[in-house]
Amino acid sequence: MNDSSNICLSCGFCCDGTLIGYVKLDREELPVLRELMNIEDANGKEFFLQPCNKYCDGCNIYSKRPKQCANFKCGLLKSVEQKELDFDSAIEIINVVKQKKIAIEKMLASLQYELQSQSFHFKMVELKKLLEKTKSESLLTQTHLKLISDLEQLDSLLSNKFGISLY
Ligand code: SF4
Ligand code: SF4
Repeated sequence: MNDSSNICLSCGFCCDGTLIGYVKLDREELPVLRELMNIEDANGKEFFLQPCNKYCDGCNIYSKRPKQCANFKCGLLKSVEQKELDFDSAIEIINVVKQKKIAIEKMLASLQYELQSQSFHFKMVELKKLLEKTKSESLLTQTHLKLISDLEQLDSLLSNKFGISLY
């Protein structure tokens, strides 16, 4: 069945660390969630880091997932639900993002950048700063320029279609 829920099963970008780097939690849901996931605490706020370790071909704790997960709908999902975008076009956009991520990861490996973040989202934030430093030192190669171009294309795609920027 080609419905909007299948879009999420083919995507997972809000669970695997592509779109967001962490998920905030409400205090009242902590007792249940502490049994299920690794919860971090900073400045009195609780959250968990992405990629979510409960994500594997969908959410493994679906009925107990955090409120923020249950309430989240990206722009792409809303467009499909509101019939502004058809299912196949949405899948095509998801696949372009997946291909762009693979291309970026390959270039990162070839440039031997060692990024510390867990999620793709925060890695791209780190990468942007590194590229700005490389640029300011006039050390940009063709691979750096291609990487910058791919990052801009990915950011534009995520902003325009999913409603969330990498930065
Ligand atoms: S990013 Fe959007 S389409 Fe993808 S799984 Fe999350 S809500 Fe669904
Ligand atoms: S708890 Fe479930 S819905 Fe929330 S980020 Fe993890 S896998 Fe996704």
